[in-house]
Amino acid sequence: MTNERIETGWNFDNSYARLPKLLFTSQTPTPVRSPKLIILNGALAKEIGLKTDSLQNEAGVAVFAGNQIPEGAAPLAQAYAGHQFGGFTKLGDGRALLLGEQITPKRERFDIQLKGSGRTPYSRGGDGRAALGPMLREYIISEAMHALGIPTTRSLAVVETGEPVIRETYLPGAILTRVAASHLRVGTFQYAANWGTVEDLRVLADYTLNRHYPKVESGEGQYLSLLKEVIKRQAKLIAKWQLVGFIHGVMNTDNMTISGETIDYGPCAFMDTYDLDTVFSSIDQQGRYAYGNQPYIGGWNLARFAETLLPLLHEDENEAVKIAQEAISEYMELYRGYWLEGMRAKLGIFNEEAVDNSLIDDLLGMMQKYRADYTNTFRALTMDKPEETAMFGTPEFIQWHKQWEERLGRQEESKEVSQQLMQNSNPVVIPRNHRVEEALEAAVNQGDYSVMESLLQVLSNPFTVSPKHEEYCTLPAPSNQPYRTYCGT
Ligand code: AMP
Ligand code: MG
Repeated sequence: MTNERIETGWNFDNSYARLPKLLFTSQTPTPVRSPKLIILNGALAKEIGLKTDSLQNEAGVAVFAGNQIPEGAAPLAQAYAGHQFGGFTKLGDGRALLLGEQITPKRERFDIQLKGSGRTPYSRGGDGRAALGPMLREYIISEAMHALGIPTTRSLAVVETGEPVIRETYLPGAILTRVAASHLRVGTFQYAANWGTVEDLRVLADYTLNRHYPKVESGEGQYLSLLKEVIKRQAKLIAKWQLVGFIHGVMNTDNMTISGETIDYGPCAFMDTYDLDTVFSSIDQQGRYAYGNQPYIGGWNLARFAETLLPLLHEDENEAVKIAQEAISEYMELYRGYWLEGMRAKLGIFNEEAVDNSLIDDLLGMMQKYRADYTNTFRALTMDKPEETAMFGTPEFIQWHKQWEERLGRQEESKEVSQQLMQNSNPVVIPRNHRVEEALEAAVNQGDYSVMESLLQVLSNPFTVSPKHEEYCTLPAPSNQPYRTYCGT
């Protein structure tokens, strides 16, 4: 072992670099002028076997800035394609580089990626860079998702580059270090299926099985198992999004992982008022990625994934299509099952009854009608403290509440146990948009990171009821302007 490894804990393998060459291009980061560490995720660093002290000294920060390649890393830009708002495009890491895979002391493998590290052969017209605000936003939301128990890529560090990036105005440049189970996307398979041979595709599928689905037995049927496992993980993931009111905002196939982690925190945001039509992204004019559409788009994306696997599913194309369609047709029911299970938990229900569907639908229907806050409604039910909002005083809600209490009475678990389940299933705090904006404004415009630190602290414990959490539960002041988020950041 070299000194560097002992000092920082970086311990790279580069299995992706051993895949067929068409899937990536070796590329080093473009050095930046004067890197400055803005935030380091100490807990995550430890989890993956890194030494937080040495990550913060000059040499440590140089790695996060792309100014120094840690020993053992073999940086590369990954090639992928994607259906973006339905249209198929050749893409790839245009502003990101995979440094390598960190092998942790527990022998787990995590991708370490620099986002904003300079141009690559896949940059198209872009500058390969990222701005500080959006990188901090990704840091906040991804870490909040993790604390909510939702599979996600993580954020290890953000450094300022000391160089401006040009967007509508000059903005401070930054690089985010992203940690992921892998960066394999539906779009990676689309790339291999469109521009590679069947053999390339098979190597990619085998690699994926080995890395993410090692329990799938090799042999006949393993690629169908891969398809089914990915369907299952995505159904589970999107159900979790729906249950906390997370709107991804840009569910293109290149932004859907094969591991089942949430990826690419661009125009995403959490919903305040419950409304199936909620859209935050400035470019999503048709509401393709609206809150209520996410489960369906998930299915659409998975169908695109299934298409890529056709040559591996059966030598006869018609047979292959049949097999794929059958697997895809199970998605909605799987999704609905996970969602229902989650909704029951949000309402403190352990056993299953046929009436649960209508009990849940009736509540959501009222929430939509009275424009109730999604998180606070479930929080009020959990704490058994009706809020002074339009919905809670209405006869229809009072009637519903009675039915719900009767329903809880028809299970063995006590009221206390049921309430405990609700507490574990209903976050008290979510990264509300006005809070995130406030933190970013202070950080980027004032150089004051205390607002973000406090927010991150609260978000790391989203299910805990405490006085400190109280102020983070309040809603934004009413505004005529809907909240807007942006791509291409
Ligand atoms: P995204 O919307 O972040 O999922 O990105 C879609 C595609 O655009 C990906 O291939 C990115 O690598 C690429 N991209 C986004 N921003 C930039 C940029 N500033 N420079 C180069 N490529 C970019
Ligand atoms: Mg993307």
